[in-house]
Amino acid sequence: MTTESGVDRALLAGLAARERGVFAERRPRSAAAYQRADHLFGRVPMTWMNKTAAGFPVYFERASGNRITDVDGHEYLDFCLGDTGAMAGHSPAPVVEAVNHRLATLGGATTMMPTEDAAAVGAELSRRFGLPYWSFALTATDANRWAIRLLRAVTGRPKILVNSYCYHGSVDESLIVVGPDGRGTSREGNVGAPVDVTATSRVAEFNDLSMLEAELAHGDVAAVLMEPALTNIGIVLPEPGYLAGVRELTRKYGTYLINDETHTFSAGPGGATAAWDLAPDVLTIGKAIAGGIPIGAYGLSADLAGAILGRSDLDLVDMGGVGGTLAGNPVSMAAARACLDQVLTEQAFERMTATATAFATGLRKIIEGYGLPWSVSRLGARVEYRFADPAPRNGTESAAAADAELEDFLHVYLANRGVLLTPFHNMALMAPQTTTADVDRHHSIFADALSELTA
Ligand code: PMP
Repeated sequence: MTTESGVDRALLAGLAARERGVFAERRPRSAAAYQRADHLFGRVPMTWMNKTAAGFPVYFERASGNRITDVDGHEYLDFCLGDTGAMAGHSPAPVVEAVNHRLATLGGATTMMPTEDAAAVGAELSRRFGLPYWSFALTATDANRWAIRLLRAVTGRPKILVNSYCYHGSVDESLIVVGPDGRGTSREGNVGAPVDVTATSRVAEFNDLSMLEAELAHGDVAAVLMEPALTNIGIVLPEPGYLAGVRELTRKYGTYLINDETHTFSAGPGGATAAWDLAPDVLTIGKAIAGGIPIGAYGLSADLAGAILGRSDLDLVDMGGVGGTLAGNPVSMAAARACLDQVLTEQAFERMTATATAFATGLRKIIEGYGLPWSVSRLGARVEYRFADPAPRNGTESAAAADAELEDFLHVYLANRGVLLTPFHNMALMAPQTTTADVDRHHSIFADALSELTA
């Protein structure tokens, strides 16, 4: 039986079982390590590491640039890049040097005191993204959480609006989707929600301005939190006029706009905000900007920063709900300064984007050659294919195009031949070190997989 993804299910099941067998057979040390991890909750350091296509995770040993080696000695071409955390490549030399200097030569990982690196990072983020005032966290999740709290405080409005099937980290307010009846409802599997999510949140489909306006018209939305393109349910690109429409509507209804650029940073050195000339009130980011060292950041417009700092009733210094002891620590700041100044430069983005363009072009050709109804989307250095053609226009459509069995098969097939994609996605991200020869290697294996799938 051939289904919407265009593949024969029985053939797929047989091939997937074969590949899982090969995967397990060739990775005895990973399998044994997983078996021994009796005192880890779910056997992994974080439960999402059980998202693995083959039954147990590959144990990581070492990495350099866009190459990873596992504990069984297999080398992989890494297109996952820590789901963007390692977009600068693994252990880029300037970041290693800056962190070593900070930790070993100067000494001190955390002190409760600012370093001069922080001001330099703030200035560079302002230059790139256009927002003049910056504050730091350790994760993009916390940057989003704290931005949300500040905007609720300054507007006195209770709700946050997000797009259906967005991902902004484990942020309570964002775990809402548009249900089958067109109304907001809790995302499936939402763990221990503090209150019904519809009490804190509204939701609209990406690329749907009339739905957005209907929700904003209630007058209770403090902020729209969005990615300029969805990147966590495949890549869903904005249609012409959509982002300008969002900005216009948020202004009309007195709602602040937060662009979460944690993934869309792949669009260029100033993310989608600079690439597409956007004007958010707040910009949040994390992951890649410190070359893989934990960091989160949020930038505020001058008006907003002034309005917040002018509120003497808000405790921004002690226990008011915005802050973390290790936020802005000297190691994060040294790493971010080195990464932004010397690694994720304009030239690096030019190279990464050119490599990704070659990746997307080649991928489209292969998919077309096998007559499969799949689509390919690219956002700067990031490429993703989805089992639907044309490409989905919003999160709900994209969620409906998911095919976990097929996705798992492709991931294991590629892993068995030395290529890693991002778990949770069919996403391939280019590091500055990724070459067109690496792209060709991925493509030849991918073409073999499709040839077997369509035999
Ligand atoms: N925002 C976006 C757009 C993300 O994709 C993610 C994670 N994938 C986050 C925020 C949260 O990042 P972290 O898990 O590092 O806090």
